[in-house]
Amino acid sequence: MRALSVRQPWAWAVARGHQDVLSLATNTGYRGPVAIYGSLRADQGSCDGPRAPVADWDSADPAASAGGIIAVVSLVDVCAAAASGRPCRCGEWASAGRYHWRVGQPQPLKWPVMALSHPGLWELTPVVAAGVARLLPGEAAALPRRSPVSRPPARHRRRAVHPLKRPN
Ligand SMILES: [Zn+2]
Repeated sequence: MRALSVRQPWAWAVARGHQDVLSLATNTGYRGPVAIYGSLRADQGSCDGPRAPVADWDSADPAASAGGIIAVVSLVDVCAAAASGRPCRCGEWASAGRYHWRVGQPQPLKWPVMALSHPGLWELTPVVAAGVARLLPGEAAALPRRSPVSRPPARHRRRAVHPLKRPN
């Protein structure tokens, strides 16, 4: 699966369906699923839209994480009009002079999958791709069952003794 690094909080906005256009410096002929990597770095100069989606921002949302794959979207089209100076109707997230990557069908992961990001459209490693597939909505049945961790009964736990109060 291909992946794209998007700075937070815009990665979160895409994952939660608030944003359906990514304004990027490059074009692509690829169409299909794209994993969204939540990034704190500005190395792509991407997603500098006119407004930040801070109104509904939720730091506790797994999709608000940085340093991992947080969602899978579908790249449905790329508008090249603005990149050649022509007007278009891509909406509020479309920046002048950029290619407008139109995305839809956001599927936020239940929790992020750690990965090392790369510039442009990059390919997930098989291990990361498998983790992403497992954490897509509706894939709970595919999660491996783990046996519960056994804990000793409370009466067997030793009471901690403060070192300064320890008898000589
Ligand atoms: Zn456009």
